[in-house]
Amino acid sequence: MPVISIVVPCYNEQESLPLFYQRVEEILQEFNRHQATYQWEYWFVNDGSTDDSLKQMQYLHATDPENVHYVSFSRNFGKEAALLAGLKQAQGDYVAVMDVDLQDPPELLPTMIKTLNETDNDVVATKRSDRAGEPWLRSMLSQAFYHVINFISQVKIVPGARDYRLMRRNVVQAIIDMPEYNRFSKGIFSWVGFKTTYLRFPNQDRVAGHTHWSMRQLFSYSMEGIMDYSEVPLAIASWLGGFSFVAAILGMLWIVIRALLFGNPTAGWPSLVAIILMLGGLQLLCLGIVGKYIGRIYLETKHRPQFLIKEKR
Ligand code: UDP
Ligand code: MG
Repeated sequence: MPVISIVVPCYNEQESLPLFYQRVEEILQEFNRHQATYQWEYWFVNDGSTDDSLKQMQYLHATDPENVHYVSFSRNFGKEAALLAGLKQAQGDYVAVMDVDLQDPPELLPTMIKTLNETDNDVVATKRSDRAGEPWLRSMLSQAFYHVINFISQVKIVPGARDYRLMRRNVVQAIIDMPEYNRFSKGIFSWVGFKTTYLRFPNQDRVAGHTHWSMRQLFSYSMEGIMDYSEVPLAIASWLGGFSFVAAILGMLWIVIRALLFGNPTAGWPSLVAIILMLGGLQLLCLGIVGKYIGRIYLETKHRPQFLIKEKR
């Protein structure tokens, strides 16, 4: 009898938690009535919530101690860490990753399970077919992000792909085995490969609570994604250097020729100052990019744990 583990990262989700559990139970029980029998277990990860999320988990565990499990972090470590912790705990043959706010519709679960059962796919992933209800600036910026990252990095990320997916055991093992500290799940999912098929669904609104992502956080998240999977920003320095070199040679030639032909002296320190400032600026920019990468190397070499578990049931 295949066991399905459902991994759910939660940060300040006291209202969504019971709704999520109720909805998923309804759907899976209904599905199980008609199909072959499955078992399923939940792994809720409390990512250092400051509200009563942990109490909700304890309550759910008390009502269904066989199937509801949770781990609780010592503080907020971020969604990527919570995902990893959940994947490490999950014992199932199939493992699903879901947001607790019901933006990942549980109605898709039966189709996903059937797909894994009946085809040779290793992963059933999902993507949004639209971005209805999202601020236009946000969708525009995220589209720009997908263009940039797919243009400059080796891993390809499907635009609009959610983290919501059902994976076979071997895929989960591959993801857990990636030891990096800076974890960008969208990149990791794509990097490990395996045969993946995508289901589409229209954008859903949160059932309760509010998003934890500000524009600034989304921006730094995308920058991290780009730096984790591409060395192109590092190459920008050499490109800019080469470009300025050629421009300087051409400029010098032009000045010499002009002096020889017309004999007029080259005037103006303002232009000189402008050029020096521009080059200085470029150098600082490149130094900054290199610094960013060094910072990430520094974090990786410390080998700190990605999360700390305070309580586990
Ligand atoms: N989340 C988390 N740790 C965090 C931020 C978010 O575990 O530091 C969880 C959150 O509880 C939710 C999921 O990650 O289940 C997605 O978060 P959210 O809904 O805020 O993101 P959005 O759907 O707006 O992109
Ligand atoms: Mg959400």
